[in-house]
Amino acid sequence: MLATRELPVAGLTPLTAVDWPEQLAAVVFTRGCPWRCPYCHNPDLQKIEGRRYDRKRVLGFLNMRRRLPDGVVFSGGEPCMHAALEDALAAVRALGFGTALHTGGAYPRRLAAILDAGLVDWVGFDVKAPWADYAAITGRQDASARARRSLDILVASGVDYEIRTTVYTPVLTDERLAALASELARSGANNLVLQPCLDRPDHPPTIPRPPPPGFRSSPTASRQPWGPSRYGHRFSGVLRPEAIRLRGQKAP
Ligand code: SF4
Repeated sequence: MLATRELPVAGLTPLTAVDWPEQLAAVVFTRGCPWRCPYCHNPDLQKIEGRRYDRKRVLGFLNMRRRLPDGVVFSGGEPCMHAALEDALAAVRALGFGTALHTGGAYPRRLAAILDAGLVDWVGFDVKAPWADYAAITGRQDASARARRSLDILVASGVDYEIRTTVYTPVLTDERLAALASELARSGANNLVLQPCLDRPDHPPTIPRPPPPGFRSSPTASRQPWGPSRYGHRFSGVLRPEAIRLRGQKAP
């Protein structure tokens, strides 16, 4: 069984080289997320309702690909929303796969249980903004406290991780990016990867979108070029320069 209480699986990707660094992985996308980031890459998955793959189909899919991927990434949505995640991770491990998790940290207690139980080999952890801006981005007042707690748990766990920040320019001005880097440094976190806020051809336009209340979309912000000349050295002196990459750059 994949889970005793079924995980709401919305989609499966057979093989990807970008969702778990230096690993070929299948991806299981779960439904449901308590947050509402304006640049969400998977808005269809925010709500829990919708088409689902049943357990038998997910298991059959993974069984057929046993020799191909190195592991399975659980992504979303927010996979940690579901009590069934732990069972699902254990079942995938029992099939012989490595396991990875994408999370924004909305459920620190579940993340702690998963890490304590040794159920994941790697975590891709979204850090959205300086803590003070979390409510504006996610639409939830408690998001900052939850994400901070989760980050502390992850850093203390010793499990391999990558922190990823989508540079959403209406909020993440240069000053706020610098503040974010300082907060990460104080948390003892490293391995930050900055990624552009990209439009997706299969989605309605995501840029420009109205910025959250209290933020202004300045013409210069929306025209910020993406590249090392703009971001590459921004955090040196705050986080170790070798701890920061742009998406697409290789780890040192
Ligand atoms: S936390 Fe992730 S899945 Fe949830 S709304 Fe934000 S970007 Fe979308």
